[in-house]
Amino acid sequence: MERRGFLKNAAVTALLGSSVAACEKAEQSTSAVSTPASKAEPTMQQKTIEWKMVTTWPKNFPGLGTGANHLAALIGEMSGGRLKVKVYGAKELVPAFEIFDAVSQGTAEMGHGAAYYWKGKSEAAQFFTTVPFGLTAQEMNSWLYHGGGMDLWKEVYEPFGLVPTASGNTGVQMGGWFNKEINSVTDLEGLKMRIPGLGGEVLKRAGGIPVSLPGGEIFTSLQSGAIDATEWIGPYNDLAFGLHKAARYYYYPGWHEPGTTLECFVSKKAFDALPADLQSIVINASRVANQDMLAEYTARNNQALKTLIEEHGVDLRRFSNEILAKLKVLSDEVVAETAAKDQLSRRIYESFVSFRDQAKAWHDISERAYMNARG
Ligand code: CA
Repeated sequence: MERRGFLKNAAVTALLGSSVAACEKAEQSTSAVSTPASKAEPTMQQKTIEWKMVTTWPKNFPGLGTGANHLAALIGEMSGGRLKVKVYGAKELVPAFEIFDAVSQGTAEMGHGAAYYWKGKSEAAQFFTTVPFGLTAQEMNSWLYHGGGMDLWKEVYEPFGLVPTASGNTGVQMGGWFNKEINSVTDLEGLKMRIPGLGGEVLKRAGGIPVSLPGGEIFTSLQSGAIDATEWIGPYNDLAFGLHKAARYYYYPGWHEPGTTLECFVSKKAFDALPADLQSIVINASRVANQDMLAEYTARNNQALKTLIEEHGVDLRRFSNEILAKLKVLSDEVVAETAAKDQLSRRIYESFVSFRDQAKAWHDISERAYMNARG
């Protein structure tokens, strides 16, 4: 068997060798009648597959829209052009908050967004974006890839005919933009703020009015006074949106989004129809895009923050310990209640909390101890 396999491989190698030689010969010859196909093009047996990716982001929006573009480009490159993904910004094919249904129903093969936008479909989905006072980016990836999180996420999306992947992370976000000082929890009462997911529910318990808006609608809503405050992401993105033109106070830290995972989801039907190597490319291109987005935010946020403060006069403030302590108590309540909604949410909550406790114990003596020592 081994020998037969060897001979077969040897024959294939010889064949490839002769066609490469033929290509080189043809390239050298000026009188060639026909030019053999380039080595980079798919062979006849490898037909090109074309997919659509719908996103919740404005087209080419820094970090997020470009993160979706990066993922699509990686899939194209890694597959040698066999799987081509065309990216659509929000509203180009479907509105931002309809991409989940669009991929679930087969209008597009892929989506790029954030799982907490789909809490109306499944409460449990929120655990896979970020949890107030939950995991950092590093811990989130550890839970997903090595702590059982990804299997649970697949279980949540399975009834919708979708396969999820983590495809980006913003790191710790900012607390948000406000037009008044937030000196105590009572300053949050009656505050109409754009803040999605579990963080929004926490604001509600603190007396505020949470609103969920896609990114493209935030600036005009804040400027017109339709909302009093907003969180978005961090300096790199917030500067690009011009949020400093609509609010003065910029608060930190982003207690509500400590390590926000962006997602890609794929139609299970389209995914299952791919050969195994292309399936692996989709999964592993997402892993590359996931890591790269975090690196990009880490590299760019501080420069953008300097620009906001030095060139635009933004007033940078830290939430007081008293406010953060109160928000943490409310967050723990909200997250625990989410666990009581259904059996799957309970299992996810238990996995998440147990992982957070372990990650915290280790990071207390590693990341935290080192950061403190570095000063
Ligand atoms: Ca955010």
